[in-house]
Amino acid sequence: MRVLVILPPVLSLAHHEVLTAARIIGEIEVVNIGEPYLDVMAQYGVKKVFIPETPALVTPAQVAEAVAQIAAERHPDAIVMNASFIGKETAARLAVLLDAGAIVDVNMLRLDGDQIVVGKTVFQGSWDTEAIAVRGPAILAVKPTSFEPKPNPGGYPHVERVPVELSPAARAVERVSRVVPPPLAEPSLEEARIVVVGGRGVDGDFSIVAQLAEALGGAVGATRVATDEQWADHALQIGQTGVTIAPNLYIGLGVSGAIHHTSGITGAEVVVAVNTDADAPIFEIADFGIVGDLHTVVPAILAALRR
Ligand SMILES: Cc1cc2nc3c(=O)[nH]c(=O)nc-3n(C[C@H](O)[C@H](O)[C@H](O)COP(=O)(O)OP(=O)(O)OC[C@H]3O[C@@H](n4cnc5c(N)ncnc54)[C@H](O)[C@@H]3O)c2cc1C
Repeated sequence: MRVLVILPPVLSLAHHEVLTAARIIGEIEVVNIGEPYLDVMAQYGVKKVFIPETPALVTPAQVAEAVAQIAAERHPDAIVMNASFIGKETAARLAVLLDAGAIVDVNMLRLDGDQIVVGKTVFQGSWDTEAIAVRGPAILAVKPTSFEPKPNPGGYPHVERVPVELSPAARAVERVSRVVPPPLAEPSLEEARIVVVGGRGVDGDFSIVAQLAEALGGAVGATRVATDEQWADHALQIGQTGVTIAPNLYIGLGVSGAIHHTSGITGAEVVVAVNTDADAPIFEIADFGIVGDLHTVVPAILAALRR
């Protein structure tokens, strides 16, 4: 099988997972938006890298058009990307452009003869399902933390720059400038081994969440209530409409444990909850629970850590 993987200009652990997942179904070629990290490509046995040549490749519409043109030449059996917000939108646009089937939040891949069988959970993680794309190349957006990165070193890939022509509609957005964010002092949410999450119980003061995360060397996460209230950035939202995490340790502070939230933490190894309500649903999935006010419990934990 020939698999085309889409990679952005800056790679994270999630993209190592995408490369690992893609290798399950076939030989990988990469479309790299920006200059490729050839060391990473060599680590994962990528044979060929295509760099679309066009002044602007910023929006999912532009990326989808560029990849569709390369796919028309290469005839891949599958096109694989990360299931980030941008990745999912790119997948949908590619499916329309290529008249193909798209499956997002993929958490399992296998070959059954010449068919690509795709796994994903539905109904907030309560059902595991398998699907196949019945038309065109299978467009697959891989859910972060579903595949453990496993390098498979090969030689350095052949790099080919490919001119692409974007439609006037796609060219309607131009990049004016680009700011590369400084490296995060704390681990990114999706990669952190420890995540401390604040919910409505934090009551607007996320500094207590940040203090515990910092003391433990972890990352800060939030429920949708906390992001809707703008106590925390939307990028920190965990759950069905946020990110999926699989840390060694999850600590929920003032989080009730709604299924929309807990569906994003099913991969967590140890779940700790601090909540004033002994009947809060989060205690049903918690390995350790503290019934108490987080504003009393967290300072006590911090004091104990300092000792
Ligand atoms: C389609 C859809 C998608 C959604 N997607 C997401 C998603 O991706 N992520 C997400 O998180 N939510 C999502 N939600 C919302 C979700 O259903 C819940 O409403 C939300 O997760 C609840 O957030 P919370 O636990 O912070 O607040 P609440 O449910 O209000 O819980 C607050 C908890 O804090 C406790 N508490 C209060 N004060 C204290 C204190 N001082 N100390 C300790 N504990 C205290 C309370 O006992 C309570 O259990 C979605 C909802 C829908 C309908």
